[in-house]
Amino acid sequence: MTQRQHSLEIPGKLIHPLGPSVVALARQPTWSLTHSQLDTILTFAWESLSPDTEDIISNLEQVPPLTAAKLPYKDKLGKVAAFQFEKQAGTASVACFICGIRHLVKNMRNHVGHHILYAMRGIDEDACNIDNLGIEPCGFCGRDGCVVQLTKKNNSASITSSCPYHYTSMSYNSAKSVSKATPCTNVPIHCPLCPTGRTGQPRTIWKYNVLFHLAKEHMDVDGERMPPIPLQLAVDMHISLEEETLMKVDRDVTEGWRIKHEIPGSDDIEQYSKEIEGSQDKKGKKRMRSQSNVVVERGTKSTRRR
Ligand SMILES: [Zn+2]
Ligand SMILES: [Zn+2]
Ligand SMILES: [Zn+2]
Repeated sequence: MTQRQHSLEIPGKLIHPLGPSVVALARQPTWSLTHSQLDTILTFAWESLSPDTEDIISNLEQVPPLTAAKLPYKDKLGKVAAFQFEKQAGTASVACFICGIRHLVKNMRNHVGHHILYAMRGIDEDACNIDNLGIEPCGFCGRDGCVVQLTKKNNSASITSSCPYHYTSMSYNSAKSVSKATPCTNVPIHCPLCPTGRTGQPRTIWKYNVLFHLAKEHMDVDGERMPPIPLQLAVDMHISLEEETLMKVDRDVTEGWRIKHEIPGSDDIEQYSKEIEGSQDKKGKKRMRSQSNVVVERGTKSTRRR
């Protein structure tokens, strides 16, 4: 390969210098690198991609694709990391990892949402691979392990995900609205309680996983009480009665669950939405809001799924 034939554009932060020594071979001198030096630089290179956060997705997109069996990226346990970025068309038919039933990729989020919601509400399901349902499940496929990142710019929201069932043409606004055809509003949302990542975007979590996330990451120091919830998060995480009814969850079950976990009802949510709107000036810019934007202190560890 010569420079004239090809040029690769690589961000400077992904370039890591090596310090080889020169050794004499029979015909001509050449470079020599120790295995431990290569190992160290490989670990450093991998860590610089923030592999434990969702930033890994946008970072990996900047890495040029490399087909070389000798230089695999490895995770913390030394396993070769498998990142799947090849996406299926929305009209491709794929099997649900939880029940095996085939759906189009564009309908899978709505379908999988039923499995997640039923597990959260304690409704037993007779799905053949129910054990595949994650503890903090991906909204596209229902398993643990997929990474998702929501990026909001001005009024648009874009989603990147490592999930093989990520529906890339999904309209965020219609996905988060209840409709008869697709009642499930499980979408990636931002957690305002987590520190923002290097990209400047807050951490992304799935709407249906909010309570689990709060219990896992944001309990008070004694691990007994949930944190106060910012209004915007309370609105973003709200699952309406209409949604649950269309998803065939009995009203009694929904209401019992709300009481048990001190979840505000739809009237409260409407009030919160108005308060949020009222806090925005005419240009739509949010004014700085004080801690008064937090709602009820609520819930204990028992909100954890199942
Ligand atoms: Zn299924
Ligand atoms: Zn997934
Ligand atoms: Zn958080």
